Amino acid sequence: MMTLSPLLLALDFGGTKLTAAVAHPGRRTWLAHRRVFLPSGVDGRYEYDTMLDLGRDLIEEVDQPAAAVGVSFGGPVYAPAGLVRRSFHAPGWENTPLAEWLQAELNAPVVIDNDANAAALGEFRFGAGQGCQHVLYVTISTGIGGGWILNGRPYAGADGLAGEIGHLVVQPGGFLCPCGKRGCLEAEASGPAMVQRARLYLAKKKGKARSGHSSRARRLLELAEGDPDKITAQMISEAAAGGDKLSQKVIREAAERLGLGLSGAITLMNPDQVILGGGVTKSGELWWQIVRETTRAQTHSEISVEIVPAALGDDAPLWGAAALAEDVIR
Ligand SMILES: [Zn+2]
Repeated sequence: MMTLSPLLLALDFGGTKLTAAVAHPGRRTWLAHRRVFLPSGVDGRYEYDTMLDLGRDLIEEVDQPAAAVGVSFGGPVYAPAGLVRRSFHAPGWENTPLAEWLQAELNAPVVIDNDANAAALGEFRFGAGQGCQHVLYVTISTGIGGGWILNGRPYAGADGLAGEIGHLVVQPGGFLCPCGKRGCLEAEASGPAMVQRARLYLAKKKGKARSGHSSRARRLLELAEGDPDKITAQMISEAAAGGDKLSQKVIREAAERLGLGLSGAITLMNPDQVILGGGVTKSGELWWQIVRETTRAQTHSEISVEIVPAALGDDAPLWGAAALAEDVIR
């Protein structure tokens, strides 16, 4: 009788969607893949039940039980205990023994981690970080998170919070962060931070002169139909690429602060590679140029480090979940 290669089940609880996929160890393609977009206002129980259905459907489809399950979760977790502390996106997840629940339902060992750590592992094993030993992964989107691979292994720290670069203070007294501090990298360089800064500059200019911002921010205001409340981070990128001076200033400042945060992490840990992912990394050439220049200028001169874009895109946490599962059966 032929022995089947064991089946890995990867689950990704994202902010707006749930994704599940199955793969065989060592393979770079999914055997099967399911994604469900979440309606607004759902709770943890709904997300859990929906994800369990996705997983079971996949197992049925490929007609093989899961040998191990890896989970990426969009919120703080205590990985050694398989515990979700809370979700950033839905109520009802507080202190949920997610690994234990899934293990009982799917009859296989389950390993969980937060999405940034999972994405770091995914990029290291399957994406831009292949062949490296010491990798910092940072995702810059509505928030800023990160994860470390050191000596070829995930590094979580004493509280599982290593890599939380989003809450490094880069601007004392700066914008208020969701964590309660001021001037955190997340509050200064995320997508919402760029939008906040653009609105602030528009309001200042408006105070000075009635038509003051018309020339410097014309393109941005056109995209936002004249309403600063409609500005998005994508509009700022698009306007900057089209020559909008105010948008370029906003991008430059956000990128400088990110570079400052990265240089601190790099100087301290000396990674061979820094991988940047998330929506804000699509802000264009100017953003990448300033991030690289600022990081280089602020980092110890004898340190050589590559700053590269993520290769797996939105699938990085899911591939990380597959890697978590793969490590269980190794
Ligand atoms: Zn913070």
